[in-house]
Amino acid sequence: MAQTTPNHTQSVSGWAAHDSSGKITPYTFKRRENGVTDVTIKILYCGICHTDIHHAKDDWGITMYPVVPGHEITGVITKVGTHVSGFKLGQRVGVGCLAASCLDCEFCKTDQENYCENLQFVYNGIFWDGSVTYGGYSQMLVVDYRYVVHIPESLPMDAAAPLLCAGITVFSPLKDHNLVSTPGKRIGVVGLGGLGHIAVKFGKAFGHHVTVISTSPSKEAEAKESLGADDFIISTNPQQLQAAKRSLDFILDTVSADHALLPILELLKVTGILFLVGAPDKPLQLPAFPLIFGKRSIKGGIIGGIKETQEMLEVCGKLNITCDIELIKADKINEAFARLVKNDVRYRFVIDIADAFATTKDI
Ligand code: NAP
Ligand code: ZN
Repeated sequence: MAQTTPNHTQSVSGWAAHDSSGKITPYTFKRRENGVTDVTIKILYCGICHTDIHHAKDDWGITMYPVVPGHEITGVITKVGTHVSGFKLGQRVGVGCLAASCLDCEFCKTDQENYCENLQFVYNGIFWDGSVTYGGYSQMLVVDYRYVVHIPESLPMDAAAPLLCAGITVFSPLKDHNLVSTPGKRIGVVGLGGLGHIAVKFGKAFGHHVTVISTSPSKEAEAKESLGADDFIISTNPQQLQAAKRSLDFILDTVSADHALLPILELLKVTGILFLVGAPDKPLQLPAFPLIFGKRSIKGGIIGGIKETQEMLEVCGKLNITCDIELIKADKINEAFARLVKNDVRYRFVIDIADAFATTKDI
């Protein structure tokens, strides 16, 4: 058990869900001492990813309660282990979903540790020492330096935080399909939420024609005016779907709930690719005909590797890409969860962790 691991002596304040109600309450727990390959990070900001809600409510049936969510973490290094390279005290850093991997398999050795079979997440994972991992809804984090990235000076720490998960999750498939360096394709983004809005920003910054496929008519004006989307299709509007048939090269599906794939697949050109990153709890129905008649394919992917995450942050630093966020106080996490479920955020909640501990005596 995490709590009884001998070197887990540091008492840390944070916020946890304790059962499938998903309700978040203050929670004090233990973290390990800073090991030789660890850095300790004073957390400043942590984004609220929809995955946090899936975990808090045990949507996927894998939650180990109490769970301290949070994998879009930015902060400042306060301790550095003797065997750490590339990181110094005081540096601005970020941590995403990864906390451990085997370091030895073909994926770990080729900077794709996100596909390691022994991958462990920054929360609800089991670290090398057998302890359960706790995430970024907390005052500080001890993390192996191989899962830490630098935040470029030009990026604000709050609006950069969601890049650590939402950003890399949509950047990695774009890069894999040559859509970062080669402009001029027609890209679709299904679901204009945390992941989706960054996908639109990337798509435009990399020179593509971007179509948003959404259930929310209210998002059309801002998608076009503020995010720069070229087209906006309501996924329940048959005329709009018909008019856009066979028009897209590549579609990123970021939807968090059950939804129909058939109309989305029909939007792809022949040989087009639908890339799933959204993770609904129930299996999606896969219609064969649009694949057969359009030689189309469906793929999926999880976040990206650490090296790729650093590369994505450099790209964001250079092109000035940040997330549109609503900064909240820590006592508003439950409200934020409820609003996120209702699709009422533009486009990512970020918890002001620094503020919470600036006013608390017990740090
Ligand atoms: P989010 O901010 O809630 O965005 C999801 C969007 O999906 C919503 O804004 C909404 O967009 C659309 N949507 C919601 N319910 C829908 C429904 N019933 N039918 C159709 N569309 C619906 O969530 P997020 O943080 O971006 O995360 C999205 C999903 O990706 C989650 O399942 C999360 O767990 C997963 N995820 C996966 C990875 C990975 O590595 N693969 C990484 C991070 C997150 P519109 O209003 O435009 O329709
Ligand atoms: Zn996430």
